[in-house]
Amino acid sequence: MSDQCLFCKIRDGEIPGEFLYRDEDLFAIRDINPQAPYHILLIPNRHIAKISDLRGEDAELSGKLIVAAARIAESLGFAESGYRTVFNCGSEAGQTVYHIHLHVLGGRALSWPPG
Ligand code: 5GP
Ligand code: ZN
Repeated sequence: MSDQCLFCKIRDGEIPGEFLYRDEDLFAIRDINPQAPYHILLIPNRHIAKISDLRGEDAELSGKLIVAAARIAESLGFAESGYRTVFNCGSEAGQTVYHIHLHVLGGRALSWPPG
């Protein structure tokens, strides 16, 4: 937990957010600054600052984030056309919110490699 964490505050309803999905492990919201027609964030309820902090006991939770991304893409209708999932970790990867989150980007052709 972190008192100052944006995603902990959204989780707790202290900052308004539309939950596309939530369960006992994770929740899904739309990114406030979407980089594609669909830009969803899958966020674990538990505060973990960055991917580097994950440990063996977090493997199931990490897998659930990816499975949830697949289900969200299906339910919003962009699974067939394709999408990208991204974890940014640390400053050079562009991580700005230090509570791990899986980006799901879809609805347009995405270039590779990323910038
Ligand atoms: P990062 O750069 O850490 O990988 O991704 C953080 C993401 O959180 C960014 O894409 C940013 O647009 C998004 N974000 C920042 N503040 C808010 C907010 O208050 N609400 C929502 N829904 N997304 C946010
Ligand atoms: Zn947090």
